[in-house]
Amino acid sequence: MNENLWSIAVDAPLQQALTYKSTESVAHRGASVTVPLGRRKARGVVLGPVENHQSEFELKFIEAVDDERPKLPDEFMKWLEWLASYYLYPVGQVFSGAFPPLAKHSRIKKTRQVVPQLPFSQPPELTDEQKNALNQIQQYDGFQAHLVHGVTGSGKTEIYMHAIAEALKTGKTALVLVPEISLTPQLVQRFAARFPDQVSVIHSHLTEREKTNQWWNVVDQKTPILIGARSALFCPIENLGIVVVDEEHEPSFKQDEKLKYHARDAAIVRAKLANCPILLGSATPSLESWHNAQIGKYNLISLKSRVANRKLPQVVTVDLKEKKDQAKAEEHEIQDRPFWLTEELETSLVATMKKGEQAAVFLNRRGVAQMAVCKSCGHTYECPNCAISLTLHGASHMVCHYCDYSEPLTDKCPACESSDIETIGLGTEQIENDLAKMFPFKVVARADRDEITKRSDLEALIEDMEKGDIDILVGTQMIAKGLDFPKLTLVGLALADIGMNLPDFRAAERSFQLLTQVAGRAGRHQEDGGQVVIQTFNPEHVGLKASITADYEGFAKLELEERQALNYPPFGKLALVKLQAKSMNKAEKLAEIVKRRAQQLKDKDEKYQSIQILGPCPAPLVKIRNTYRYQMLLKAAVDGKLHAFCFQFLGDPKKWAPSGTKVQIDIDPLSML
Ligand code: ADP
Ligand code: ZN
Ligand code: ZN
Repeated sequence: MNENLWSIAVDAPLQQALTYKSTESVAHRGASVTVPLGRRKARGVVLGPVENHQSEFELKFIEAVDDERPKLPDEFMKWLEWLASYYLYPVGQVFSGAFPPLAKHSRIKKTRQVVPQLPFSQPPELTDEQKNALNQIQQYDGFQAHLVHGVTGSGKTEIYMHAIAEALKTGKTALVLVPEISLTPQLVQRFAARFPDQVSVIHSHLTEREKTNQWWNVVDQKTPILIGARSALFCPIENLGIVVVDEEHEPSFKQDEKLKYHARDAAIVRAKLANCPILLGSATPSLESWHNAQIGKYNLISLKSRVANRKLPQVVTVDLKEKKDQAKAEEHEIQDRPFWLTEELETSLVATMKKGEQAAVFLNRRGVAQMAVCKSCGHTYECPNCAISLTLHGASHMVCHYCDYSEPLTDKCPACESSDIETIGLGTEQIENDLAKMFPFKVVARADRDEITKRSDLEALIEDMEKGDIDILVGTQMIAKGLDFPKLTLVGLALADIGMNLPDFRAAERSFQLLTQVAGRAGRHQEDGGQVVIQTFNPEHVGLKASITADYEGFAKLELEERQALNYPPFGKLALVKLQAKSMNKAEKLAEIVKRRAQQLKDKDEKYQSIQILGPCPAPLVKIRNTYRYQMLLKAAVDGKLHAFCFQFLGDPKKWAPSGTKVQIDIDPLSML
């Protein structure tokens, strides 16, 4: 060991840490430093002394130790190191994410209040289910994951707050992660009123100054509680006593670019390193978490009843196939009604408007806008190898996004020979326009990713809904998450099928989650629970049926059996190799090279025999921002050494990938688009 040589995670796209010299003994693990890198200077964090260094290069000196940045706690460093190695991402770039965007400020300038100051509000008397949940949590010492499974309104947030209060009593701190979209003023207010002056908040819609100030509040130990979206994990909280991940099933916890981490999984590792409990809460747990609870890895806490004993909404399914047959039999076309609207939903909308109540119409269009469906029998096109639906490319090319299987879209339905095959490309904007025409004296507003780009847009929309300034809200699923509008009594789902047929083995799970969430928006404050109308070509779909009967366990059982048969997570592991190039030709060449590298390693090494290499094939979104994309999916059993395989066959892509191309790896991918 040489005391003058230090391993440093330098903020640059380098897989490994670099070694630097230091004359004085100022360097220490966790210290922030500035180092020369090529002709520039770069920031970095000292990982530790170098054991034995061999290099043909002359080593450079650490230029300066950055005193303003706090020394990162060891346990937090270990977490960052885990992230870099697990997600195969440059260690220095992982570390650079652990600091605020701006320098610490003397805070002369007044900024907008991020966390409201509210008088303390007393907690309610806990229900028996809540008491039982807290008892269970207290029975464990140190690290333990608890899956808190309870319908919305069952009092999960109240459980989190009590468990946090317990942790605070022992002088510990707490980290609460929620999906960005759920980080509404209402949620923050609730915590701020229970824990006055003890809460900091970090999310992506704060200004850089606000973010920096909140970060320092936590690091200077001014507030023991941090609530935030997934990025809050990167705040070096010390003395962590509890971690909460609310809506743990939410796909938005996975970051799809750069460091492709899953905040729930990373939070579990964080809690493990801090040796503290973690609560994962959801009304519709991810099948990964549910499976972990079934095999006893997580402690399962079930909340079966609602706090105020309110009813669930009444759900009606309208079969769009039958509607079509009827229209044909009566030999007339639907005239005044827009093509996507059934009589049932129209009647309900009219009645709701007459009563002066609010309605919402959702259309789930995530990512893929087009699919083909036989309008006579509801047949959709599935891949014979993967049991997922095919996506229509161009006019008539049906492709599987997993294994590159393809077939032409035929003129006649393969199931019923009808030639009534339609591609569906309905959008929320169309719905908004149609409804505005139908209800000229009502206010119709739209909320989707085109309309709601800023947090302030969402907040304004929430306010307008709460005040009753909007009569009909049209939106994508983004507005279905975690929002609670007191006057909303009718929810319509224009076409439930689009989400069900995403080219993804998680499509049924997502549909179930979405439908449950959507249904849960209606009548939350009415005795009768409100009404939900679901229009669909597949009324028999498992996700849909389960969500109507709120049968999570039955659904999970069936779905897990299917996953097991096909070796999908949580029974198998996946890694997605993403390939990018500036031309299709280059992308194809890169794909060949990557395939060869993977295949050679598999053939060479006995321990990788069970790894399946699927593709490469063009990505579903083959061209984005002038970049051509290919992808290769790797599938293995849980102990199939997939991680080591990826590490080994990828090596340092910069050394073998042709210029103008890019190779990225997504471990445990959630989205294949
Ligand atoms: P969840 O997080 O499961 O959706 P919440 O914790 O938000 O549930 O509880 C739903 C509503 O019930 C909230 O308005 C909350 O204040 C209230 N609530 C929660 N627990 C109790 C309780 N023990 N007694 C009375 N009201 C409660
Ligand atoms: Zn058919
Ligand atoms: Zn396939």
